[in-house]
Amino acid sequence: MICREAGGFLDRSFLKVKPSPDGQSFDKQPAEVLYMDKVMTHPLKTNGQRTDEQRSALLFEDLKQPLTDKGAAVESSRCLECGGPYAEAPCVTACPTGIDIPGFISAIYRGEIDGAADRIFEENLLGATCSKVCPVEVLCEGACVLEKEGRKPVEIGLLQRYATERELKRRIRFREPAPSNGHKVSVIGAGPAGLSCAGELALKGYDVTVYDERQDFGGLVRYAIAPYRIDRDPLPSEVQMLKDLGVKFEMGTPIDSREKLDELRKSSEAVFLGIGLGDDVNIGYPGDGLQGVWESLEFIKTIKTDRLPEIGSSVAVIGGGNTAIDVAIEARRMGAKDVTIYYRRTESEMPAYDHEIDEARSEGVHLQFLTNPVRFEGEDRVERMVCQYMQLGEPDDSGRPRPVKVENTEFAIPVDTVIKAIGQQKRTGFLSWIEDLELDNGLIKIDESTGQTSNRFFFAGGDALNGGATVVEAVEDGKVAAHGIDKYVGGMSS
Ligand code: SF4
Repeated sequence: MICREAGGFLDRSFLKVKPSPDGQSFDKQPAEVLYMDKVMTHPLKTNGQRTDEQRSALLFEDLKQPLTDKGAAVESSRCLECGGPYAEAPCVTACPTGIDIPGFISAIYRGEIDGAADRIFEENLLGATCSKVCPVEVLCEGACVLEKEGRKPVEIGLLQRYATERELKRRIRFREPAPSNGHKVSVIGAGPAGLSCAGELALKGYDVTVYDERQDFGGLVRYAIAPYRIDRDPLPSEVQMLKDLGVKFEMGTPIDSREKLDELRKSSEAVFLGIGLGDDVNIGYPGDGLQGVWESLEFIKTIKTDRLPEIGSSVAVIGGGNTAIDVAIEARRMGAKDVTIYYRRTESEMPAYDHEIDEARSEGVHLQFLTNPVRFEGEDRVERMVCQYMQLGEPDDSGRPRPVKVENTEFAIPVDTVIKAIGQQKRTGFLSWIEDLELDNGLIKIDESTGQTSNRFFFAGGDALNGGATVVEAVEDGKVAAHGIDKYVGGMSS
């Protein structure tokens, strides 16, 4: 770990290219070396002997430390302020919500932090949350011209976090709502798509009520994103901003029957569906009921809202997506010595982002490919995971090679905990209550320019459309749908 002169945050790229002790340089060090390097210089240098307090602190510690005032000034000075009347800056094009990135960075450089936050919230009402959870490596920072020139990209995410968090502590109102237009819209789901849609509608003068079955706001941002990426803040301040704009919330109010949905439909002029996906995909393995076998969402929710579960020293994570990466890093930070992700295809087919796979390796997580669980064994608690080897076959519906079992290759691995991160179920039951709603493989089909579904009364956005993408894409879906609803409801009343 090194400190940047001004910013003082972990520089992972440095870790990966620093010279070896014999003076030779190499691209990637063994994961354990990287992990030990980090742990030995970490204030919680107690791998394997951490107290509960230390484990909890490490688990909730930010992946990247926030910028100081001096760090923000130095980092903002690196931006070339690309773009002009004929072409947008590449970072803006890469941002799903189209934030004026060079504009807000230059405002930070001039010391106008309030102006920077205004520019961010103008395009993205959850701009503070997105600054912490966006995969910037594949979005704005991945497109930065400095990166293309072989230099380190501007730390756009950290600068966005600096401006938004600082200003959210100082004030709540960033945009002025239009006077009431007397129209009523309901939003189902207080996740990023629902919150964004509700806020944008309130700004247009709509009477908006958000319904959610949970008591807490944020949907999967609150319950399913690892605590080292985001725990609670800044979401509560952003929700307060929406309340200040006039959005009403009915939390702990599930719309869980056809009758309730019909009632909502009759009492509103349009309904936005920000319902996301359901529970983890339930692939039943023998031994699922043993203690120590977890579904990934339940595991993350427990450590974020309840307590740190006992996981022992050997943890197996099943899956190849970003959630598998999240829970594996969490398990490592909780003190497990051996954390291995088992994936039934190879690394090239993993749905997780490459930079997140690198992150996992840098935290000491191992990956084993072409391996699938068969059953879990133990007395009361899981003690072994029996697996078998796979090989790649012909492409399946996803276009990726189908994993095919290699017969007579079963073997057992001793484990204390198994976390299944295989994906989430689609909400086909709920969606069947909506007449004439067109689906594509269980996902809602919309007009992409308006967010309107085939049942013109309903609009939709977020994971229920795309099967699970980024928070910032859900925010943009909500924004597009708010404009679509305005056009539809306004058109009806004119
Ligand atoms: Fe600044 Fe990079 Fe965006 Fe250019 S691409 S405006 S250098 S952040």
